[in-house]
Amino acid sequence: MKKIFTLILLLGVAFACKNPDQVGEEDSYCTGGASVTTVDDSNVETAVKNKIYRPVSGSTVLNKNHPSFNTGGRLVLIPVSFTDVPANTRVTNDVIDQAFFSSGTGSVRDYFYENSWGQFVLNKAGVSNLVPLNRTKASYATPGVPDYTRNANLYRDACQGASIDWASLDRNNDQVLTPDEVLVALIIADGGQGAYRPNNVTITHNGRTYQLRLRFVTLDCSKASDSSKQGVETFAYNYTNIWHELAHGFFGLEDLYEGGIAGTGKAGDYDIMDNNYNVVHMSIIAKMKIGWVQPKILLPAADRLPSGLKCYTFTNIETDPNALVLYHENSPDECFIIENRSKAGSARNFNVGLPTEGLAIWWLNTTTGAFRLIDASLLARNTGLRPMEYGTPSANALFKYKEADDPKIPIPLRNQNGQLVFTLRAVSPVGTTMRIEL
Ligand SMILES: [Zn+2]
Repeated sequence: MKKIFTLILLLGVAFACKNPDQVGEEDSYCTGGASVTTVDDSNVETAVKNKIYRPVSGSTVLNKNHPSFNTGGRLVLIPVSFTDVPANTRVTNDVIDQAFFSSGTGSVRDYFYENSWGQFVLNKAGVSNLVPLNRTKASYATPGVPDYTRNANLYRDACQGASIDWASLDRNNDQVLTPDEVLVALIIADGGQGAYRPNNVTITHNGRTYQLRLRFVTLDCSKASDSSKQGVETFAYNYTNIWHELAHGFFGLEDLYEGGIAGTGKAGDYDIMDNNYNVVHMSIIAKMKIGWVQPKILLPAADRLPSGLKCYTFTNIETDPNALVLYHENSPDECFIIENRSKAGSARNFNVGLPTEGLAIWWLNTTTGAFRLIDASLLARNTGLRPMEYGTPSANALFKYKEADDPKIPIPLRNQNGQLVFTLRAVSPVGTTMRIEL
């Protein structure tokens, strides 16, 4: 009896000694660790937090507290036709409602609802009857402005002819409609993509003059001649572009292409503002700068509460707003941001286009707005890279455990001057729960 008691006591001590926050001797990767949402960042200065969380000065990314941010998600849709681009009669008001505003169907509303953890809800501010523009599409193009979507008269004619109650959208009753009041999108049955075209136009409605100083977009649906697409399919083929253009319009997010071709920039295939043909979530940088999430901030090991390297747990970002910022005072204009990107984590399959799953580690210059996805496959070969030396992220850019990994070897993260500012190691296998030692 006494022996058994001693054995139990010894076992108890052995378990108590194994610190779940560190990589065990026999472990190939972190198997435990506190949630990143519980990191104590109370000793991080408010000024530092503000610089990380708020939009970069001069950038067009709007914070949800910005007076120009359309917090209500109010969207007006105006189907238009040209003499050479007829309306698609399959695109009924019911189909528009389902594709844009329905809930739990994979609609445009669902995309932004999931990305914002329920904080941004697309709101049907109005769907107009068809506005027949009795001229050709090309007639809106001019020698000076060959792209018809860039002609302000297109938006003027569409809005002037629309069956929209502009007075009800003019929330402050000043006869000037601004981006915080409404986003106007034209629907064109041309089987193409879309465009983002801020413009100022003037219309009259019920004898009153309205100035529309808005962030207009155009969104294509399938052509009238394309009978292969029925119901929401008349829009669904183009959802990724619709998300992209609406993200310009609602949040002021910028294009991230660098080579002029989708997917050739800072975020590659990992963000809709870079590859607008890819079914993926918005990046954590957009979600944070818009103001949907304020990840905890982790300082270098010696400066933390409590200090020391530890394993941390990330559940997938598609479900939980639990990213983590790494900040080092030697690099006051920079930070790294980590999120766990998962395909299965998206309830509506809004991440099926991810090239790979795992921990995405982003570098951000909080002064200039420059950022990069740190490419895990490049870092594995060249540990001396500075953030801006990572090019378009590869198909293996996310961090995850691989068979040959030695969990004891730290991988360095460098700042833009090439100094080592953080190390990481012992990354766990891909999953909706992932861990890493930081
Ligand atoms: Zn764009």
